[in-house]
Amino acid sequence: MQNLLNICEEHSLLNGYRWSPTKCTVISSSTNSTTYNLYNTNLRTAPTVKYLGLQFNHLGMDTRAHINNLKEKFNKSMHRIHQICARTNGFSLLLSTKIYKQFIRPKIEYGLSITSFKTTNFAALERLQDDCLRMIVGGFTNSSVKSLRVMVNLPSMVERWYTLNSKYLIRADTLPTDSLIFKIIQSNTRYSKINLSKNKNPIFQALLQNNSPISIYTKLTHTISSYRSNAIINSSEKMIQGCRSDLKLDPILTIPMTRKERRRILRWRMNWLPGGKPNCHCGGQMSRNHLFVCPAIPEAYWENIRRGFHNDINPIDAILKSLLTNKPKSITEKQNLIIKWQPLWTDLLNILFLVDQICHKTQETFVDEPDPGVLFYKWIME
Ligand SMILES: [Zn+2]
Repeated sequence: MQNLLNICEEHSLLNGYRWSPTKCTVISSSTNSTTYNLYNTNLRTAPTVKYLGLQFNHLGMDTRAHINNLKEKFNKSMHRIHQICARTNGFSLLLSTKIYKQFIRPKIEYGLSITSFKTTNFAALERLQDDCLRMIVGGFTNSSVKSLRVMVNLPSMVERWYTLNSKYLIRADTLPTDSLIFKIIQSNTRYSKINLSKNKNPIFQALLQNNSPISIYTKLTHTISSYRSNAIINSSEKMIQGCRSDLKLDPILTIPMTRKERRRILRWRMNWLPGGKPNCHCGGQMSRNHLFVCPAIPEAYWENIRRGFHNDINPIDAILKSLLTNKPKSITEKQNLIIKWQPLWTDLLNILFLVDQICHKTQETFVDEPDPGVLFYKWIME
């Protein structure tokens, strides 16, 4: 290395320019004590160095340091946005997540396409996004926001890594053969981290198997969609199984309802019953399963909702999953929907209202609310 530095020094002297030794840093491991110099000035050594916003150590890009650095960087921005508006009593959840997607997620994604992740780094990467979503919906540090992510149609950060990395690999493959990156990739195929990431990226691997004659970017779009839908369909987590897999905004977020009604439904879908597992009026413990056997819920509320599980699917989840996504157009369609939804929706909202009361223990704190579901019915008939 010192020989290479000497060559640089000679070249600068011959051509009339000068390197700046104070701006140079040698990245070395803690076991390496060799010192290097330029123009007889010792160069500073450091275990990690930040260059163009990315962290490097003697092995290359330092993924863990990069994630920690990202966390610090976006935490400040996210807190600022949270203070202004992106919180439960501020903008709607939909708008807050759009703001997150527009202003915060690009910060997390900086350098993501070329970062080499090990499976052990995935949880830390995912947590970056989950912390932002928790801040928006007002969750505790460990509350799960996986189902919320599906409802607002946000890919996981690992899915984003697969996507951005695939786009990068496609671009790298189509670069001119005399470009520097193309030459580097071609000359170091065995140890190249780009080639390693190719093998670890299931979206890119699926893309390679797709021989249809459409453009590579159209194939990529189809592959990403099918990967994400399958991840929802095949998820072993009950809360994700209860979500739609069509990769659209869940109508829970868009159909008209009061703020309280929406909050109760969202909490139900995220399994965030207030107060953990509070005592029920019947003497049991309130939970998603207790609800179906609880004598404190009037029998009449179950009249239109099939009580009990069918094919292991929670009936309330099944109803929420079948909500309409588009406003009906014809009169007949509107009337049919009112006949179907009016009793069902009112009963469901009544049940969730009661759960909210039970979880909060004091009924007196609840102010009068409009008749359940009126905004939804009005929207159908408009
Ligand atoms: Zn009960």
